[in-house]
Amino acid sequence: MKRWPLPGVRAGASRAFEKRRSFACCSAMPEIVIVGAGPAGSTCAAELARAGREVLLVERAAFPRTKVCGEYLNAAAQRELDRGGLADAVGHLAQPIRGIALSAHGMKMIFDFASPAWSLPRSRFDALLLEHALGTGAKMQRGQVHDVRRSEAGFLIAFRDDSGLERILESEFLIGADGIGSVVARKLGHARSSQGGRFAIGGHFRGFERLDGRIEMYIGRKKYFAINPLPQEGEANVMLVMDREVMRAWSDDLQAHMARETRTLTANTRPIDSVELLGKRVAVGPLRQRTKTVADRGAFLVGDAAGFVDPFTGQGVALAMQTGRAAAAALSQPRAEARYRAVHRALFTERKRVGAFVGLLVKSPFLARLAARWLQTDERLRTFLIRKVSGI
Ligand SMILES: Cc1cc2nc3c(=O)[nH]c(=O)nc-3n(C[C@H](O)[C@H](O)[C@H](O)COP(=O)(O)OP(=O)(O)OC[C@H]3O[C@@H](n4cnc5c(N)ncnc54)[C@H](O)[C@@H]3O)c2cc1C
Repeated sequence: MKRWPLPGVRAGASRAFEKRRSFACCSAMPEIVIVGAGPAGSTCAAELARAGREVLLVERAAFPRTKVCGEYLNAAAQRELDRGGLADAVGHLAQPIRGIALSAHGMKMIFDFASPAWSLPRSRFDALLLEHALGTGAKMQRGQVHDVRRSEAGFLIAFRDDSGLERILESEFLIGADGIGSVVARKLGHARSSQGGRFAIGGHFRGFERLDGRIEMYIGRKKYFAINPLPQEGEANVMLVMDREVMRAWSDDLQAHMARETRTLTANTRPIDSVELLGKRVAVGPLRQRTKTVADRGAFLVGDAAGFVDPFTGQGVALAMQTGRAAAAALSQPRAEARYRAVHRALFTERKRVGAFVGLLVKSPFLARLAARWLQTDERLRTFLIRKVSGI
């Protein structure tokens, strides 16, 4: 490993760059560095490598790794997988999901899809996407990026590799695909501070009876609870998403509150303390990410790093793949940043609107009842809403 002396570090540069002037570095400087190998990063890497670009993914986790997620893949995600040539591989492993059974304010509504969606543990799904990107020619480096700044040639990216060694990479382009709380967005000054954000708690559970291939969603005040059937018989992904104040009020005994709440929300039909937790219970939050810009002078933000959509409508994975692909496509065209900003705005605004609209409908008992009545009688409206929520 050669030592790579840093060219003149300017005053005001971040501490990581000031502390040392020489770091162990990669022998070759990649043209494009992507931080994060989730769906956004891996999709972007595969597209760039396929186009013959030299791309290096820097990922902090050892794959396969888990990710807090409902693990539902909607029609838009399926479409993206199809474009990338991965639909058969994922479809073969996934659990078909025929629809959503929504319970809110004492009502139950069934929304069945025209063709099944999928669910698949993220450990398998993300590993498959990464494997595909590497097979296409992208390279990967394990490491936690902790600092980023602009240089004459493009960007300097400081990370700690899996043996604890401090290293710096230089690349012409930089793509932040590092999810909520993105280091790339923060260090380049593209993150926008924001308040609020929900919290999620859940995990994989075994021992569910009568799972019928639909996602069950139970809506309560300031919280919702989702059960998503997984490929193994009787197993499901369980997520309880709640406002910050609920999380705070429950902090004395999260497990007991979760058990009580799932009994209430499901009218005792799906108490979480009657099924077996597989592995660890996971909690994450606050779920928020806002940015001032998603592309500026060679830097691009994709997936959650560019902005977060509430998980209620399960659109995040599709959006991550779509924005990853869009950034890769923009990079081969003139005015790449402006082009990507426009595509991102269109995709993100649409997803955000759909999420906000559905969120509003189920929030108030009055609106939920009205919507239920409309949707039961108007087939076209029902199909339209299902298509919108599926991202197509
Ligand atoms: C509770 C919950 C439920 C959800 N349910 C669904 C659902 O059912 N369906 C759906 O479509 N979406 C769902 N989502 C949204 C979905 O999980 C995200 O939108 C999606 O994972 C975004 O992909 P990404 O590639 O942008 O980021 P991520 O999947 O978060 O990947 C980011 C990657 O970057 C790596 N990384 C982070 N920081 C660094 C660093 N400093 N250095 C190096 N590597 C780094 C991480 O290890 C990770 O591998 C849910 C989200 C939540 C929170």
